[in-house]
Amino acid sequence: MGTPENLIPGSHVWVQDPELAWIDGQVQEIRGDEADILLTRTGEKVVSELCKLFPKDEDAPEEGLDDMTKLSYFHEPGVLHNLATRFTLNKIYTYTGNILIAINPFQRLDYLDDLATMEKYKGLNIGELSPHVFAIADGAYRAMIEDRRNNSILVSGESGAGKTETTKMIMRYLAFLGGHANAERSIEQQVLESNPVLEAFGNAKTVRNNNSSRFGKFMEIQFDNHGRISGAAIRTYLLERSRVCQISDPERNYHCFYHLCAAPTEEKERYKLGDPSSFHYLNQSNCYKLDNTDDHQEYLATRKAMSVVGITEEEQDSIFRIIAAILHLGNIEFTSQDDANESAEVKAGESKHHLETTTELLMCDREMLEDVLCRRLMITPEETIKKSLDPEGAAINRDGLAKTIYSRLFDWLVAKINVTIGQDPSSQFFIGVLDIYGFESFQNNSFEQFCINYTNEKLQQHFNHNIFKTEQEDYKKEDIDWSYVEFIDNQDVLELIEKKPGGIIALLDEACMFPKSTHETFSEKLFQSFKSHKRFFKPKKTRSDFTIVHYAGEVQYQSELFIDKNKDYIVPEHQELLSSSRCSFLAALFPPISEEAMKSSKFSSIGSRFKQQVQQLMEILNSTEPHYIRCIKPNDELRPHLFENVNVLQQLRSGGVLEAIQIKCAGYPTRKTFFEFLKRFAILAPEVLYKVSDEREATKRILEKLVLEGYQIGKTKVFLRAGHMAELDSLRLKLQ
Ligand code: ADP
Ligand code: MG
Repeated sequence: MGTPENLIPGSHVWVQDPELAWIDGQVQEIRGDEADILLTRTGEKVVSELCKLFPKDEDAPEEGLDDMTKLSYFHEPGVLHNLATRFTLNKIYTYTGNILIAINPFQRLDYLDDLATMEKYKGLNIGELSPHVFAIADGAYRAMIEDRRNNSILVSGESGAGKTETTKMIMRYLAFLGGHANAERSIEQQVLESNPVLEAFGNAKTVRNNNSSRFGKFMEIQFDNHGRISGAAIRTYLLERSRVCQISDPERNYHCFYHLCAAPTEEKERYKLGDPSSFHYLNQSNCYKLDNTDDHQEYLATRKAMSVVGITEEEQDSIFRIIAAILHLGNIEFTSQDDANESAEVKAGESKHHLETTTELLMCDREMLEDVLCRRLMITPEETIKKSLDPEGAAINRDGLAKTIYSRLFDWLVAKINVTIGQDPSSQFFIGVLDIYGFESFQNNSFEQFCINYTNEKLQQHFNHNIFKTEQEDYKKEDIDWSYVEFIDNQDVLELIEKKPGGIIALLDEACMFPKSTHETFSEKLFQSFKSHKRFFKPKKTRSDFTIVHYAGEVQYQSELFIDKNKDYIVPEHQELLSSSRCSFLAALFPPISEEAMKSSKFSSIGSRFKQQVQQLMEILNSTEPHYIRCIKPNDELRPHLFENVNVLQQLRSGGVLEAIQIKCAGYPTRKTFFEFLKRFAILAPEVLYKVSDEREATKRILEKLVLEGYQIGKTKVFLRAGHMAELDSLRLKLQ
């Protein structure tokens, strides 16, 4: 993408730097295909290959540009520099065409989201005021009313980038536009209050974010003919189940556990709770408290929010009793008396006490609970036998029970909120708001990352299609030939993952159904099937890992737990125990299944179900007019005023922003109005301005005189190909 042929001594350029990604300098001398560069900041001299240099715009305004498509040089360093410049000035929002980039400020910027700001943005066209989430929400709302069509706002970004906060701002703004004045417990109030409830049960402190959502969420806000909110539907995706039983320092379990441990004394006594540090599911980490939050206050707030979304006092009591039961369940430890260490039993002392308490809270039978924890039914074609588990197996079994209960409880909350808010059957249209985990690539990547990255591939395809389409529309509007625009697609990765039969998800299901499968046989099957696939390879020095070349980069997956994690089944004994509970709330979470159904649906695949959910989501999104918000985390320390270039670039890549730039660059990355063009380049042919007064005509003549190739003159703008700008600027530089 560099345009070396247009660089001359004196040109301002961007040079690659391992630490800061890009730094600026000035070309001193050119020798063959190398150049000496004088670095602006340090005065140091470096040598760089010409093809690795990018031209820098010396005329860019000091405060940056609020839309990157207005950049004279629309390339990676230009984009990065523009974002950094604005961030320093506390301008956290920037457009790239119709995409809003939002950089997490990690500090409250009050002027950003108060009522006065909402008033200000109401009814204004995008671009009339500085970039803002409200402008996007307002645009979606008005497009919905005017075109009578569904709209959606897709918020993405990595954990801690600000998606959920941004989503909340969108919801507040939509409630402001389409709310019912003075109505208590209005639909919009319930929609807003569903947030603290879902956050209490579905959010947790992680290394990346103190309030990290551990599930994906799509919220459909329905409107009536007058543009008033008339209903809503919430869908959630893939709650992280493992967190209930396993956390590492300095993370926390789901907020609700700590809230409950800080409940008023009377309630704590009722649920037989003590300090969080006394529970195994919480004390695997040393972190119990969050800065600036008081769990006692949060408990009261959660209770209140639960009431607003229609959860009765009785239901609340059952919910917290079950939450407390999970904590006690986690404290039950196992031992074995026999020499072979084979038959687990509940340890004497404390563990017996917790067993007792769990039984009381779950309102189930003590013997049965103990039996279910320590033994497992084995069904063979010949007979059914009860087999003792070893202590370790019993502990795994116990954790499975805890996870099952918790995830059913979470699903119940979502369903309940949906019932309370209600969907409006006569609603005319909706605005969908998507808050979903961004692309993930860690040291260890398992089934969860696989599902998350699959979702992101799907969203990326949707995004690319859309960017491509709007590019074409832009060209058409200006009467420009757009046959130059290349389409960038990731269909091949998607096929690798979701093709039926033969894709990774399908092969995983096969492995799950075949009793003798191991993660090794599964990986082996993958290696055979995708030997020559461009997007797949077997990494060196590993036996069963596999790597997928995602649009945002390579991710190496560890296949060890794929088979286990893909199986969604509830142990029949657990099912029986819980559905026989005397607590009708708990029993209802586990409606009895017929023996028939139990046999036939022995295995249901999480991967396939997730794929289906994602496909449904895509269908909904495809029927809407989309708007994109890309959230960026400027640093990993969660600190204000710190902008890390390399980090941000990686996110621009994962968020598809760089890809969008590439799509634009394949066509005409630079668009200038005739006035802008003349202001900058009339100096190259001053005589033209004397002869013609029409701006379009003057632009045309100048470009003809300069013998550039491939540019196009539209109705109001000139469209320049990559490299043209640099060529023009170097001509200008030669004149000085
Ligand atoms: P994500 O949902 O992307 O994981 P969050 O929306 O939970 O991230 O944001 C993480 C944290 O960053 C928030 O808890 C808050 O402290 C801070 N934050 C995010 N957006 C903003 C904002 N617009 N203004 C101030 N702080 C913010
Ligand atoms: Mg979140």
